[in-house]
Amino acid sequence: MRNTKHVAQAATPEQGSLFLCWQSARLVARHRSGSYAVVELATEREIPGEPGQFLMARTECGPPLPRPLSLLWTDGNRCAFLVKDEGLLRARLAEAPRGTLCEVRGPYGLAYRKTIDPGRRYLLVGGGSGIAPLDFFARRHPELVEATVFGLRCAADAAVLPERTVLVEELGQGTAGARALDMWRPGLGIIACGPEAMYRQLAAGLPGDRGVYVALEERMGCGYGACQGCVVGTRDGPVRLCKDGPLMPLESVQW
Ligand SMILES: Cc1cc2nc3c(=O)[nH]c(=O)nc-3n(C[C@H](O)[C@H](O)[C@H](O)COP(=O)(O)OP(=O)(O)OC[C@H]3O[C@@H](n4cnc5c(N)ncnc54)[C@H](O)[C@@H]3O)c2cc1C
Repeated sequence: MRNTKHVAQAATPEQGSLFLCWQSARLVARHRSGSYAVVELATEREIPGEPGQFLMARTECGPPLPRPLSLLWTDGNRCAFLVKDEGLLRARLAEAPRGTLCEVRGPYGLAYRKTIDPGRRYLLVGGGSGIAPLDFFARRHPELVEATVFGLRCAADAAVLPERTVLVEELGQGTAGARALDMWRPGLGIIACGPEAMYRQLAAGLPGDRGVYVALEERMGCGYGACQGCVVGTRDGPVRLCKDGPLMPLESVQW
């Protein structure tokens, strides 16, 4: 009985699952365009995830160790990811047939709304698969969003999200970051999720204004803070990205 109570307390939507509560899921839909795919899963139980949170996921076709994937949306027993067609897990998810058996656990990580200053409106600046949590945030919290600035490499990639305006930019062009810097004005916040070069571009172009947050990425083993695999140093000391992040204030990032 004591254990049952403990599990019930730990598995709140606020905290994520504390133990390895896998649930099986089936790939039920996939929209592929260019190098990206939106992959929709049907899960056994509801995934009460919020924007910025992620699931640890794996498929029957491998690899055996799960990988973190951000929620693009969640609705009852359905959820979706935006995956780039590269790497062991994501390439398989991007190609796997409908009905493919997956396993997921989570959600983990701090919802973006718990990290940000709620008194501001935000520009959401995303590149690559980093667009996923920002798109979720824009739909869940429209009152906090000034505008979205998303960038992908070609028109075929951009077509993976037909309802969004996505800038097409070549590697190293920094088009989305430059557009965000043009749109920024004092008092406006920024939430960015994308490559480190984008964060450096924003850091170089913005005054030391608080209210700028960037999502950091590291390899993750457990997803809930136990394995310490995703510890990064910040100006405020070491943090576990899976538990204390992945979103961090820009001023705390140590380049
Ligand atoms: C919180 C979080 C959310 C994420 N959300 C998404 C998402 O929504 N969509 C998505 O496509 N990706 C996402 N990622 C990235 C994804 O989890 C990793 O790239 C993961 O390794 C992919 O697994 P894979 O088996 O496809 O690739 P792998 O075969 O594991 O790796 C592919 C290549 O990337 C390299 N690599 C892998 N991880 C890292 C790393 N952390 N740092 C540097 N190099 C690395 C490997 O060495 C290899 O060369 C997220 C990562 C985090 C931390």
